[in-house]
Amino acid sequence: MKKPKTRVDEVDYIVIGAGISGLAAATYLKDHGQQVLVLESGQIPGGRMSSIELDRVPADLGAQFIAKSYKNIIAKNKELGLPALALSIHKIGIQQPNNSINYFNPAMPLSLLSFKGLSFGKRLRMILTLPYIIMKPPYINIYNPQQVGDLDNQIAADYFGNIIGNSAVTEVLDPVIHGLAFYSLQNTSAAFLKAMTAKLLTMRPLSYARGIGELSQKLASQLQVKYGAKVIAIERGDDRVLVNAIITGQSKTYRAKKVIVAVPGNTVLNILKQPTNIERQFFEKVEYSSAVIIHCRADIPLPNDSSVLFYKPQEEKQLASIHMNPYAQKEKKSYMVVTLGSVFAKKYLNGQVSDKEILRIIQNKIGPVPNLEILHKTPWASAVPLYYPGYIKLVNEFQATYDRDDMILYCGDYLAGGYTEMAFTSGLDAAKRAINT
Ligand SMILES: Cc1cc2nc3c(=O)[nH]c(=O)nc-3n(C[C@H](O)[C@H](O)[C@H](O)COP(=O)(O)OP(=O)(O)OC[C@H]3O[C@@H](n4cnc5c(N)ncnc54)[C@H](O)[C@@H]3O)c2cc1C
Repeated sequence: MKKPKTRVDEVDYIVIGAGISGLAAATYLKDHGQQVLVLESGQIPGGRMSSIELDRVPADLGAQFIAKSYKNIIAKNKELGLPALALSIHKIGIQQPNNSINYFNPAMPLSLLSFKGLSFGKRLRMILTLPYIIMKPPYINIYNPQQVGDLDNQIAADYFGNIIGNSAVTEVLDPVIHGLAFYSLQNTSAAFLKAMTAKLLTMRPLSYARGIGELSQKLASQLQVKYGAKVIAIERGDDRVLVNAIITGQSKTYRAKKVIVAVPGNTVLNILKQPTNIERQFFEKVEYSSAVIIHCRADIPLPNDSSVLFYKPQEEKQLASIHMNPYAQKEKKSYMVVTLGSVFAKKYLNGQVSDKEILRIIQNKIGPVPNLEILHKTPWASAVPLYYPGYIKLVNEFQATYDRDDMILYCGDYLAGGYTEMAFTSGLDAAKRAINT
């Protein structure tokens, strides 16, 4: 039987992945007069920065907030006339071994002084040493490796333990980081956490009226995006890159002058045919934590004062955090967002966790709740990149040796810091390099 012919289209630029890094790259290219096509395997834009509606309430499927300090995203909001609104979450609660919960306000670091989980002396030490921690750098700039190089080989738990005390690390910092990024400070680079802490301590969580995905939706609406287009192979040709995708069951090949790959770093080798040694050696070492976001509904009114509850990674192998959906109006029902931590998420992804078990765990944590039900589950096999000790150096080496290749470029949170702002920033950076090389 004759093989069906694969159609080949010529395009100047292809961006693979309509996550926030890919959308940032494609928007930059379009704004600079380039012809660009985005191929996205899912049905909606945004990847880990996307939202849907459940019960007519916005529901964020991955990232939950941006911050005032996210300068590139905030600048884009202004340009698009898309206001970022403050979320009403102003308390962070950390569950203690005796199950009581101690709170502080993330927007006011001094509120840590009243955090009951630590002795007064330890709290004071933490407060007094904070300026030292947040002095520099403002965020990781991997294109300026000297900035953090000297701390990159150190373990965050040890480095911060020496400054703020080991108990402040285990009782406060570790649960917060685990709640946000689903990994422990035991396997995090001190350089990375130092850069992140400045962000966390000045954090006033922001989002958009229709959910965090509104930015992605707005950007995607101005671009040519093909949804349901799963790229299965990228290959360098003589003067073009060949991109093969499956679109609604059909194989389709594009020939592009340049391709920006904006998929999670630990999946790049699945689609990159004949990677160079530099590519293989780097991408093999990219690791991510896992997470599952679960949207639930219960028949009780929303509490007046919403807070985020974080659980310790070493004691809590199940939940990373629970918070009320901030977009829900005060009404008779409450909408909760429950995040399974990395260890439990991996079990879930392997099919070892039932809905019944998840509901039982939530009830155990927050007490009996009437008619608690699961509305939606979003598994993330690649949730947040692991900035383990030595990783930033690897990224820097990769960028330094790799940059000269001008046909395939990469962007994503694994190259610039594991959160939306840095994914966005790396997308801008890849697009600039694509145009300039
Ligand atoms: C549960 C969770 C909570 C988080 N919380 C926050 C937070 O509160 N604040 C914050 O700033 N950051 C947060 N983050 C991190 C943030 O979401 C990410 O850093 C950022 O969204 C990553 O963007 P990206 O473009 O690099 O990758 P992605 O968003 O993963 O985009 C990759 C895109 O490529 C598509 N794709 C993959 N493979 C293919 C293929 N073969 N062909 C075509 N398309 C493909 C995917 O469908 C996806 O749309 C969180 C992440 C998770 C998972």
